[in-house]
Amino acid sequence: MKPFPIILSAPSGAGKTTIARRLLEQRPDLGYSVSCTTRAQRPGEVDGRDYHFLTRASFEAEQASGAFAEWAEVHGHYYGTLRREVERVLSSGRHCLMDIDVQGARQFAAAFPETVLVFVLPPSGEALLQRLTGRGSENTERLLVRLRNAKAELADVARYHYVVVNDELERAVERVASIIDAEAVRHARIHALDEQVAALIAQLARQINGIQPGG
Ligand code: ADP
Ligand code: 5GP
Repeated sequence: MKPFPIILSAPSGAGKTTIARRLLEQRPDLGYSVSCTTRAQRPGEVDGRDYHFLTRASFEAEQASGAFAEWAEVHGHYYGTLRREVERVLSSGRHCLMDIDVQGARQFAAAFPETVLVFVLPPSGEALLQRLTGRGSENTERLLVRLRNAKAELADVARYHYVVVNDELERAVERVASIIDAEAVRHARIHALDEQVAALIAQLARQINGIQPGG
């Protein structure tokens, strides 16, 4: 089976980073495409693991060289997916998990139609606000930008193949894991399916020929 890209999108604070981390811990068949961003590094984030933290000039240089499979301006900062990151993960035989906003997801899926698009919803607006404030990563002004953007992002949910409500974390992680398992056995993703089925039919024909009627 050919490994495929999986995009998680969600309004900020819905929990997609947390879900992605859990999945990566649990599943050796997944790898993560580390995005580039011009936003400031948060406490606890590691450059090269969570993001490649770039200056605006370095980001624009990557952009000009065609290094990005997609990029977008989100909440006032640039974010982009490096083609070489996606290739690194897929060529290692693992599905490529990505955390990308709705604009980037649209661009990426147009270029790579085999992509699986998963939208993560918070259980309520109240829960989203609690999670965003609880994370403590944004001042009030930046929090408002993210909440206003959440309304626009939610309008894009119909473009996604799957929708997972992140009410209880473990259940949400299991739902995304089930989606990946189901997608892996999709007819179109099974390598040389026609040849496999033809070989099975030939084996069955030999077995049928070997059975004596009334024996
Ligand atoms: P996102 O990547 O979508 O912006 P995060 O993964 O950073 O969101 O999650 C935002 C905050 O919500 C974090 O503090 C995280 O620990 C918390 N969180 C994530 N999922 C849940 C959940 N199911 N229940 C309660 N808190 C959650
Ligand atoms: P955060 O700053 O909270 O880590 O992420 C903010 C937003 O940027 C989220 O919606 C996240 O999905 C999005 N994002 C992260 N990486 C990328 C990327 O490579 N490309 C695009 N288009 N969006 C990204």
